[in-house]
Amino acid sequence: MSWESNVRKVVPYTPGEQPKAADIVKLNTNENPYPPSPRVAEAIRTLDPNRMRLYPDPKIEDLVHAIALVYGRKDEEVFVGIGSDDVLAMCFMTYFNSEKPILFPDITYSFYDVWAEMLRIPYSTQPLDDHFHIRPQDYMRENGGIVFPNPNAPTGSVLPLSEIEEIVKGNPDSVVIVDEAYVDFGAESALPLIDKYENVIITQTFSKSRSLAGVRVGYAFANPKMIKYLNDVKYSFNSYTMNYPGILLGTAEVLDTVHFRKNCEKIMRTRANASARFRELGFSFDESCSNFLFVTHERVPAKEIFEHLRTKHIYVRWFNKPRIDNYLRVTVGTDEEMERLFSALEEFV
Ligand SMILES: *Cc1c(COP(=O)(O)O)cnc(C)c1O
Repeated sequence: MSWESNVRKVVPYTPGEQPKAADIVKLNTNENPYPPSPRVAEAIRTLDPNRMRLYPDPKIEDLVHAIALVYGRKDEEVFVGIGSDDVLAMCFMTYFNSEKPILFPDITYSFYDVWAEMLRIPYSTQPLDDHFHIRPQDYMRENGGIVFPNPNAPTGSVLPLSEIEEIVKGNPDSVVIVDEAYVDFGAESALPLIDKYENVIITQTFSKSRSLAGVRVGYAFANPKMIKYLNDVKYSFNSYTMNYPGILLGTAEVLDTVHFRKNCEKIMRTRANASARFRELGFSFDESCSNFLFVTHERVPAKEIFEHLRTKHIYVRWFNKPRIDNYLRVTVGTDEEMERLFSALEEFV
């Protein structure tokens, strides 16, 4: 016996690499290739060091209010956290408190099983079909909660709103979390469902479509009762999640809806061009509604392409996991970055 027998041992989530070299083309963690709104730069200039003596606003009122305003919701329907990873972890803690297993897809965001293991929540994974689509009927069995991203990650496949509604409606006794980290790149949000159903929560993030991965801002929408339960858990854990700069910069960013839309449109245009290039080179994939493409090549194994690209200082994501180990997840970068990617691919595949 030793103190180690009392330690909570977990297998941690593995984040994508953050290489330091200057000439890297970084297409491996779905960050936005463009800077945030110019209003963020202006807000940085107004940061007051003296204000940093004080604890930040525990209610994060300014940012909650700005998000509510932009999405036409009430403040009581919004929750904010340190990136949606924080929001999702709080959701797991709050809503998944049953002896029954929670359900999520076998191929999905690899944080879900990490949180379930850490929080000792029983879970059962539901296999995606052969086209990597979620089958709503798999979620119609007894469960302690449901979570899935839409679009799914890393496959990028989209579940139509009608099928999300089917899952929410068919599970009135458990909470359904829809993780919309990529929804701004062309998918339909399930946000309207919070008016129709008591048991659904939608999470989103500033890390992808709003170019603020480095600041850590995530948020969620649900009915006021659900948000109240979530806040109770948050205040029992850490009252001051968002720091003062994060609140200020997040607020500046979300209010610039014009810049946000232009930014997303630029990425979607680059994605359309990249899709055509990938097909010409013998890759196949589903049409993407996110800021990444999940591609497989007709001849060349994904691992070899991944390694070749690395030697060219181009980073994409390869998951050494069953069913998807012949796929690459490629973030949509700038046109110039994609040009470098395609010249490296042309000489190899
Ligand atoms: C990126 C991502 C998140 C979390 O992003 P944050 O940076 O923590 O906001 C959550 N879910 C999925 C599916 C993601 O891809």
